Amino acid sequence: MNLDALKREFGGEIITPSSPGYDAARRIWNAMIDRRPAAIARCTSADDVVAAVRFAGREGLHPAIRGGGHNAAGLAMVDGDLVIDVSPMKRITVDARARTAVAETGLTWGEFDRATQEHGLAVTGGLISTTGIAGLTLGGGVGWLMGRCGLTCDNTLAYDVVTADGEVVTASATSHQDLFWALKGGGGNFGVVTSITYKLHPVSTVISGMVLHPLARAREVLRFYRDFVSAGLPDELIVYAAAITGPDGTRLLALIPAYTGADLDEGERLSAPLRAFGPPVADMVQRMPYVAMQSMIDVASPYGALRSYWKSHFLRALPDEAIDTFVHHAMRCTSPRTFMIIEHAHGAAGRVAPEATAFPVRHHAFNLVIVSLWPEASDDMAQVSWTRAFYHAMQPWSAAMVYVNTLSDDDGGRVAEAYGVNYERLAEVKAKYDPSNRFRRNQNIPPAKVKSGAGLPERGSAEVRRGPAPA
Ligand SMILES: Cc1cc2nc3c(=O)[nH]c(=O)nc-3n(C[C@H](O)[C@H](O)[C@H](O)COP(=O)(O)OP(=O)(O)OC[C@H]3O[C@@H](n4cnc5c(N)ncnc54)[C@H](O)[C@@H]3O)c2cc1C
Repeated sequence: MNLDALKREFGGEIITPSSPGYDAARRIWNAMIDRRPAAIARCTSADDVVAAVRFAGREGLHPAIRGGGHNAAGLAMVDGDLVIDVSPMKRITVDARARTAVAETGLTWGEFDRATQEHGLAVTGGLISTTGIAGLTLGGGVGWLMGRCGLTCDNTLAYDVVTADGEVVTASATSHQDLFWALKGGGGNFGVVTSITYKLHPVSTVISGMVLHPLARAREVLRFYRDFVSAGLPDELIVYAAAITGPDGTRLLALIPAYTGADLDEGERLSAPLRAFGPPVADMVQRMPYVAMQSMIDVASPYGALRSYWKSHFLRALPDEAIDTFVHHAMRCTSPRTFMIIEHAHGAAGRVAPEATAFPVRHHAFNLVIVSLWPEASDDMAQVSWTRAFYHAMQPWSAAMVYVNTLSDDDGGRVAEAYGVNYERLAEVKAKYDPSNRFRRNQNIPPAKVKSGAGLPERGSAEVRRGPAPA
């Protein structure tokens, strides 16, 4: 890789294995990922991204793209190739009157939320404030506001993208509509996104926090939880349930409500049954600023400090047998840092048609995410085995659909599962904007094969190469 050519046209820093900051620059959220790129191009502008993408094209590279570095599969780093790192790009402009924000893709959700909350505005974002807006938004984006405002990708108005040939395009409802559709959930497949325009919503004080029960009572609490959320919640109230371990080592089942409506008294009334059930051993639910809610579980997930392996799928339903299986495995978890979360989605996120955006999972309410975390490499095999066993035991209730942003690095064959009815159309858009699959260090959608003598295949007629069947 001849970096001199890149250095001539690049305004940011280029970090190589001999640079003093190399180890810090290749460190990402999952401490189990120890990849050694040949170079990390830390971009400061869209022009830097253009230079890096064109350089990658000339050199025949397949760069990884790094936003917030949170992806558990470690997609932001690559061995022996180029990393296009947009994390220094943090400009954001909020138009309070139009309720929009134009945000560069190096921002984290904590940074984004602080800027938009100065105007009492927000959009659906991640639960942990150090997560990058880029990878989360491009994969779809689930969060506390999704019942009221939809997924993050339902609130995007435009994307500035550097495509595989180094061209800068704006994808929106009026320009490159096919790319605009694909970027609403299709991940990092279509180019390097340099900025995203979001639609914002008024949000200020919210009601949130944890209601804690002993894990020994998890069966009855989860049955109550299922019935409570299934009874028909207003859009403003989202409730997750999670098996966690308290700071003193106590195994707990947490109910985590988030009420984001304007009428806080109504929020108190709606969440009262959830807080009264049991009774709980602790009730930490309270009124708090939106940014406080957006960082209240940061402590569970320190950046770069723990090794991690995830398994996840949407569930068709949550019958008693599924709850029993969940509890059986939660009881046998040997790492106190691990948590298993059931995310309940409803409201605006479910009122979007599966084909309207690239993100097709609109009608399955329960998403199970097993987030295994542990400190020691010697524990890798045991923790990965426990996670897989738990995931496989939940298969009878699987909807055979998964959120692309929760896939692990051994889940490659499940990308088609993430995109369902939209997979072939995504492969066609990929063939148009990245025909040589330059951007393949992601949850990859290979370009649809273009039949010889033909132009781009018509929608639905593409011959699509699929990944291997799920393991
Ligand atoms: C602790 C934790 C909590 C999480 N909570 C949530 C949550 O509440 N809701 C939710 O929806 N998800 C959540 N996630 C998943 C999260 O959405 C993904 O991990 C996402 O990939 C993180 O984005 P990032 O920019 O930090 O990732 P990175 O690791 O930097 O990037 C991941 C991938 O995204 C793509 N990408 C990143 N930047 C760009 C860009 N500028 N242009 C094109 N492609 C790009 C690339 O394919 C890249 O490989 C969580 C993850 C963690 C680890």
